[in-house]
Amino acid sequence: MGEVFLTAPVIFSQRKEYIPPHRVEEELERLRQAVERTREEIRKLKAEIEARIGEEHAFIFEAHLLILDDPGLRATLEKAIREENVRSEAALAEAHESYRRVFEAITDEYFKQRQSDVTDVLIKVYKNLAASETDAPSDSRGKILVAHDLLPSEAALRLSQGGVLAIALDMGGQTSHAAILARSLDIPTVVGLHNATGKVTGRDWLIVDGTDGEVIINPPPAVRKEFLGKKEKYDAYRRELRKVAKWRSQTLDGVRFTPMANIELPEEIGHALSYGAEGIGLFRSEFIYLQRSTLPTEEDHFAVYHRLAEEVYPHPVYIRTIDVGGEKTLPQLRIEQEPNPALGLRAIRFSLQNRELFRIQLRAILRASVKRNVRILFPMITEVEEIGEVKALFREVKADLEAQGVPFDAAIPLGIMIEVPAAAAIADILAREVDYFSIGTNDLIQYSLAVDRSNEYVSYLYKPLHPSILRLIKSVIDAALAEGKEVAVCGEMAADPLSAMVLLGFGLRTFSMNPIFIPRVKKALRSIEMKTVRRVVRQAMNLRTAQEIEEYLIEKLLVKHPEAFLMLGRPS
Ligand code: PEP
Ligand code: MG
Repeated sequence: MGEVFLTAPVIFSQRKEYIPPHRVEEELERLRQAVERTREEIRKLKAEIEARIGEEHAFIFEAHLLILDDPGLRATLEKAIREENVRSEAALAEAHESYRRVFEAITDEYFKQRQSDVTDVLIKVYKNLAASETDAPSDSRGKILVAHDLLPSEAALRLSQGGVLAIALDMGGQTSHAAILARSLDIPTVVGLHNATGKVTGRDWLIVDGTDGEVIINPPPAVRKEFLGKKEKYDAYRRELRKVAKWRSQTLDGVRFTPMANIELPEEIGHALSYGAEGIGLFRSEFIYLQRSTLPTEEDHFAVYHRLAEEVYPHPVYIRTIDVGGEKTLPQLRIEQEPNPALGLRAIRFSLQNRELFRIQLRAILRASVKRNVRILFPMITEVEEIGEVKALFREVKADLEAQGVPFDAAIPLGIMIEVPAAAAIADILAREVDYFSIGTNDLIQYSLAVDRSNEYVSYLYKPLHPSILRLIKSVIDAALAEGKEVAVCGEMAADPLSAMVLLGFGLRTFSMNPIFIPRVKKALRSIEMKTVRRVVRQAMNLRTAQEIEEYLIEKLLVKHPEAFLMLGRPS
């Protein structure tokens, strides 16, 4: 709660100014100088953020330096100045527009959000064309930051100063840098408000409710009072979360379970461990492709895996080989647009058709395995033959490393994601081929129910508790356990306390999820006895619809065991 601090958006001028042809060299020099000033500015920022809130948050500036030095970007700008005779400002605006179109075509929210890094760098160069010194940002401490959007560097700078009470943005998604940073600094944030900047002025007073995504302008005293009460409850909840993170992971009757974290960036490790993760259950390695404009080398891969293995040790790290293709199209891979990407050349299919890239990744994973806490996961497996191909390639890569005298964990186990109904149906056969399964419920639900996981028009049909889904999951867990193999769930379903109880009842012991959900799942599972969940789950399996099942679970688990649920609602 507090006063508004409105930041002005940074935009490129739409005016296209030209230069006479004999000024081209001069203009190029002006651009070069602005690029140099930008480089200095980014380096200074990086050092500053590193000193204030740590290396992990300064990492994005590495990416910004790479963008600044991207030869493709340079060539585009120089070409516009030389051939079209436009001023540098117009060249930057044009380049920005073409990048914007490229990013707009990406459907994956996380990757799409990375457009802000390109904008950030281009805006800096743009500003540096005019001024020799960039202005220090005015002080937003003690206030609520309201902006159209926050560029990554602006977010880092303002939030690292400390004291920002809350954030409300017109743009942005949950995976924007601003949102990620705000989350790890515990700053209440609401994004995607469309027109907050049009509705508030610097004289307004706001309530920003990050738990329900609500922003209230100039509330009357009664509403303020209500929200003060809510804030008190929330603070108590946070204190409890911190406590829970340290508790032992076992049910009321002493059965051990393992909460793990799904992460996309090595920078998230500290955050994950602080929430009580006992390992990284899913590292989505495709992020590595995003940090650079060219293809990552073996060393680039290795640096990330090595860091993961070291920092998570002695806990395990499950590195999933890249899941690109489909909706995650990356510019440097020049993946053809497919008519039906979710059913296309995705994940393991992509890797098996791009063997050289695959080999590089496998070598790097193996090299990082010397501490024996690295595991591999292959995504989107649909048939036994794929496992055969993967194993053959894996043997070759191991033999190469051995011949070169490079150390690695020779006994490194192999596992697969079960995220396609076909794989679930032959789980008994697959279980004989691999060391463990990780059930990816996000895709398993999407493919089983024929509901695009990111399409809001059909989201009402996306039901983790649909009887078909529960039957499939149960059969996969049964198949793994019958073969004495480990099995985990790493889809979002594991993050929902009620669903997690059902999974526990099916015999699941490893739950991997977005780290922020670990404490509440842990609390739920700690508050229940195995005989209770087994009984409830057995009954639930006789019901006909997702709604009937949910109502039954609420009645038998939530209502009867309110102490198991941290009461700020379940993840949606
Ligand atoms: C899943 O499909 O459940 C999963 C964990 O993988 P992703 O969300 O990366 O597709
Ligand atoms: Mg998946």
